[in-house]
Amino acid sequence: MLPRDRDPQFIAAVKSILADLRMRGANQDYCARCETNDWNVDVIRVFAIPMPLANGGPPTALPPPSQAYIPTLCIVCNKCGNMILHNLQSLTRTDPAYLRKLGFKE
Ligand SMILES: [Zn+2]
Repeated sequence: MLPRDRDPQFIAAVKSILADLRMRGANQDYCARCETNDWNVDVIRVFAIPMPLANGGPPTALPPPSQAYIPTLCIVCNKCGNMILHNLQSLTRTDPAYLRKLGFKE
């Protein structure tokens, strides 16, 4: 199995998502913090813990176990580390096959 950064299917899917972002107006290539145009792009899982109910009683010591996550496109500035996160569930709503192409199997 190829690492993600050498997998042609993954690379094509990332390029397609980036092109889709441009179509949606996200076309600023320079970092908002340091004005550099040098990025690393990858996908990550952002684990999500549901908020407790407003009247759900006192907080528990530990959050409930959760496997819920948000498939996320993570763009990191190679100079200053500024991170830009895009929710892939939202971006791929019209074509869920993209999530599988990006490595989200479940
Ligand atoms: Zn930067």
